[in-house]
Amino acid sequence: MVRTATCPLCEASCGILVDTDGERIRSIRGDEEDPFSRGYICPKAAALADLHDDPDRIRTPLIREGANWREASWEEALDRAADGLVRVRKKHGRDGVAIYYGNPVAHNLGLMTHALPFARMLRTRNVYSASSADQLPQMVAALRMFGHLALIPVPDLERTDYFLIFGANPVVSNGSLMTAPDMKSRLRAIRDRGGRIIVVDPRRTETAEAADEHVAIRPGTDALLLAAMLHVVFAEGWVRLGRFEGRVAHIDALAHLVRLYSPERVARRTGVAPDVTRRIAGEFARMTRAACYGRVGLCTQKHGTLASWLVQALNLVTGHLDEVGGMMLTTPAGKSVFGNPAAEPVARSIGTAVIVPAASR
Ligand code: SF4
Repeated sequence: MVRTATCPLCEASCGILVDTDGERIRSIRGDEEDPFSRGYICPKAAALADLHDDPDRIRTPLIREGANWREASWEEALDRAADGLVRVRKKHGRDGVAIYYGNPVAHNLGLMTHALPFARMLRTRNVYSASSADQLPQMVAALRMFGHLALIPVPDLERTDYFLIFGANPVVSNGSLMTAPDMKSRLRAIRDRGGRIIVVDPRRTETAEAADEHVAIRPGTDALLLAAMLHVVFAEGWVRLGRFEGRVAHIDALAHLVRLYSPERVARRTGVAPDVTRRIAGEFARMTRAACYGRVGLCTQKHGTLASWLVQALNLVTGHLDEVGGMMLTTPAGKSVFGNPAAEPVARSIGTAVIVPAASR
């Protein structure tokens, strides 16, 4: 029997066809009819069958007794976990419990709908996830700029003609915070239609190899380069707010902030020649369909939040925020963002949200 499913192993969410014979998996292959992944899978999806059949796979709850583990029923295991939670909370208060969400929570609807309310019910301040390691700067930037930490714009890969990438290697990660399977084909399509891809990264990554241009910036200096690009945009009069005209607060404060950071002034720190900074700023600002995207490399550095915020500021002032071919705000599939009813009005009214540069608060 062949069933359709979604690979749960990463954000790309590729459609798969699983051929089964009872409990046995005969094969796993990409689903050509999945409109999103269009038949693509990476080797990890094919290896799901090995995971399923792995003799070491844990199939029942285990309870440790001294140095040994014994199998237990779900009822006994859940009671034991509940007792432990109550005991720790009584002794150490609600912050005595810490929660860690692994990536499977984000890729499993059942876990997502139940784990997050459960975590809120515990009311601990100590909540960690994969985001703690490499994504929080983006979330803080989204919160300060758009009003909710999950309103992170994603690149419109299908329609952009200029893809400016900071600190990301989507050819290997399969795209992160953009959910785009088969990145190699998607990047190739940009170039095939005459578009350009620029990668700013200290390392010549696989994505840099596949790009038109690699700008080898010094590590940790992205915020300076982004500020210099904004400096050029303001100095040259290339600001274009489009439908956000009149709805962006403190734009003058941003212009004032970046005035100090000319390409010439930051060049020694960034290692990027001033003429390269000016040229890329000009290409990006003048292009009708362009998207500036930053990811892990921006988040895991000293000025990660500022750099992430400046990426969106650059998109905003050049008219590439929430426009075709730019960085687009998504429409939530459900009624709310991350199951938080308070975010729903923000998600619905983003078109009229006031965007306030965090630096001016
Ligand atoms: S890129 Fe690979 S691991 Fe990620 S969803 Fe697709 S098949 Fe699964």
